[in-house]
Amino acid sequence: MNKELFKESERYMPGGVNSPVRAYKGLDITPPIIKEGKGAYIFDEEGKKYTDYIGAWGPAVLGQADDDIVNAIKLTADKGISFGSPTRLELDMARHICSTIDSVDMIRMVNSGTEATMSAARLARGYTDRKKIIKFEGNYHGHYDGFLISAGSGVLTEGIPGSKGVPEEIISNTILARYNDIESIEQVFKTHGEEIAGVIIEPIAGNMGVIPAKEDFLLRLKELCMEYNSVLIFDEVMTGFRVSYKGAQGLYNIEPDLTTFAKVMGGGLPSGAYGGKRKIMEKLSPIGEVYQAGTMSGNPIVMAAGYTALKKLFDNPEYYDYLENLGRRLENGINEISKEKGIPTVINRVGSMMTIFYNELEKVETYEDALKSDIDMYNSVFKYMLNKGIYIAPSQFEGLFLSVKHSNEDIDRFLEIFRKY
Ligand SMILES: *Cc1c(COP(=O)(O)O)cnc(C)c1O
Repeated sequence: MNKELFKESERYMPGGVNSPVRAYKGLDITPPIIKEGKGAYIFDEEGKKYTDYIGAWGPAVLGQADDDIVNAIKLTADKGISFGSPTRLELDMARHICSTIDSVDMIRMVNSGTEATMSAARLARGYTDRKKIIKFEGNYHGHYDGFLISAGSGVLTEGIPGSKGVPEEIISNTILARYNDIESIEQVFKTHGEEIAGVIIEPIAGNMGVIPAKEDFLLRLKELCMEYNSVLIFDEVMTGFRVSYKGAQGLYNIEPDLTTFAKVMGGGLPSGAYGGKRKIMEKLSPIGEVYQAGTMSGNPIVMAAGYTALKKLFDNPEYYDYLENLGRRLENGINEISKEKGIPTVINRVGSMMTIFYNELEKVETYEDALKSDIDMYNSVFKYMLNKGIYIAPSQFEGLFLSVKHSNEDIDRFLEIFRKY
């Protein structure tokens, strides 16, 4: 039934999907068509059960169909689905984020991570009256034209340098730098310093596989941005409220000028936001001259779901300890098994997000390191695990995500299956 449904999907949607990585291109298998999910488990149209380690690509840190989120959605929907007017719910959400994330004085809600990063780039340009934005190799910031160069995620999985349809003129304002390479950013600032509107970075990269930035690298980046009056943008679309409540900036204790959020922030609904220093945010229309708008932005149902999720995470800090313990159990187990079998493996993990790199290097710290991974090996393990009901990302260059609904028994089952590969 998965096969028939997917075949028909291919007739109506390019590649049968609404986002490329879901199509399992090059893997020679049909992606399961997911019908429903609860907690740590999802089920396909054939009734097959999977333990979910994709978590909707990050958002589902509270698992699928969390009761509190579902209730909030139902209660809100009953009272109206969209108004396009100010609501108390968006105030609750904005107040909550601004009062719990130190670097965020003001925030603007949007509808996706892409919209958040694209708008943050525009704001940085408008604020500085400069054009150039630095991005890092292998980092992914959504599908905005200016970021589709050496991008991670699906772009990297497909092995393409960028995207057709992106004008050279736009890309010429993006400067590529090397992740975790201090010399590279010093060089770029030395050459282009006065033209650099902003720097966008995944402070813990998750879209070339998980690769955390080194602390001294991030600190130097922050210093350079201050020295040259460039806007430092942390893209915490994946890491925000995930690696810790305060995201990567909380772990490193480094405050960016702007932060982009999405994924966990929306409780599973389409969402996004960007926020930061008041003096920068005040450049946004209607009080400033940088225009950005959205019919659906701050949608009440999204706000209710997101606020419920964030409040629950904030009120239960022990969740993050729990996720750390689960993550460590999985990491240790995989390392042990790989060592026993003599399979070269590097695991990068921060809390509940991790990547198993099939890689002969000691460490995977850069984009080039990640590219040296054995993709055939990963794909083979992926197919085996999927077949056994363990749903992990269909790409070496994506993360594996845990939720608070996963149990030690789930992890042990993962390991038991993994051992038999
Ligand atoms: C997922 C992701 C995006 C894009 O978000 P969408 O909601 O898919 O547009 C941007 N940046 C990072 C770091 C992401 O992980």
